Amino acid sequence: MAAQRPIYTAKLTRTEVLSDRADCKHLEFEVQELASFDFAAGQFVSMLAKNNEKQMTRAYSLASGPRGNNQFELCLNRVEGGFFSNYLCDMEHGNTVHFHGPHGHFVLRNPLRDSLMIATGTGIAPMRGFVEWLFPLDGAPDRSEAREIWLVFGTRHESEIYYREYFEEVARKYPNFHYLITLSRGEQPWQGLRGYVQEHVKKILEGRPDRGKNDMDAYICGLNNMVSANRALLAECGWERKQIIFERYD
Ligand SMILES: Cc1cc2nc3c(=O)[nH]c(=O)nc-3n(C[C@H](O)[C@H](O)[C@H](O)COP(=O)(O)OP(=O)(O)OC[C@H]3O[C@@H](n4cnc5c(N)ncnc54)[C@H](O)[C@@H]3O)c2cc1C
Repeated sequence: MAAQRPIYTAKLTRTEVLSDRADCKHLEFEVQELASFDFAAGQFVSMLAKNNEKQMTRAYSLASGPRGNNQFELCLNRVEGGFFSNYLCDMEHGNTVHFHGPHGHFVLRNPLRDSLMIATGTGIAPMRGFVEWLFPLDGAPDRSEAREIWLVFGTRHESEIYYREYFEEVARKYPNFHYLITLSRGEQPWQGLRGYVQEHVKKILEGRPDRGKNDMDAYICGLNNMVSANRALLAECGWERKQIIFERYD
């Protein structure tokens, strides 16, 4: 008989509203049973809760990197009419939720190569884990091996740019980390990039015609339409399937 996978208890210790407009929250947890919760940046946990008598399970990407302690963080938005996203967003400090994991293969490739990280909405979660791991701000060593890393984040409005200050701080400290934000419905004062992420991915690739094609990887995370559009673009640019690692939320 297969061994039962362990179910853990996560206690909510801190929350932060990332965007009122998008109803998006950052949640911090501590695993009660463990001194150290070991995972690779980019993996997800499967959260468990009962909706009336029905057992519900939903996956959530870890929005933090491994820190050698029992903490992990999530980034999630309320989905209208959805059970689990609202259940988690309504949790109060000190409340607990069960989960199993970590799971998943959406992790950094070894060896690390120049990389495009492409995300929209809460697809930013695993990218925050990757960036925290590669480019520490806490005095830990730089793990980016001097690779060029682009994070291209797309959202509709300026008020929905999750973790902006954090990524800007990383970009100031590490010249090989390039942080691009593009808004699809940016209001008038917005001076930055506009349009969908794939338009800017294309420009990055056009900016390095002699490199890229065979010595880069792409990590894509978000809703299926965006993931498909970017996979199609990279395939058109001659990328091989194995260079494209992706996580779809729907
Ligand atoms: C590997 C994996 C990792 C994930 N990580 C995250 C994460 O880090 N943060 C996060 O917010 N969600 C994440 N999701 C989505 C999450 O598991 C749930 O699907 C989502 O929270 C909706 O669950 P629900 O029970 O509230 O609604 P449901 O009734 O299950 O969902 C209703 C519909 O909402 C759509 N949907 C799913 N995710 C989203 C979303 N993020 N925004 C808008 N619509 C959505 C789907 O089309 C779904 O059919 C992940 C999914 C997978 C498979």
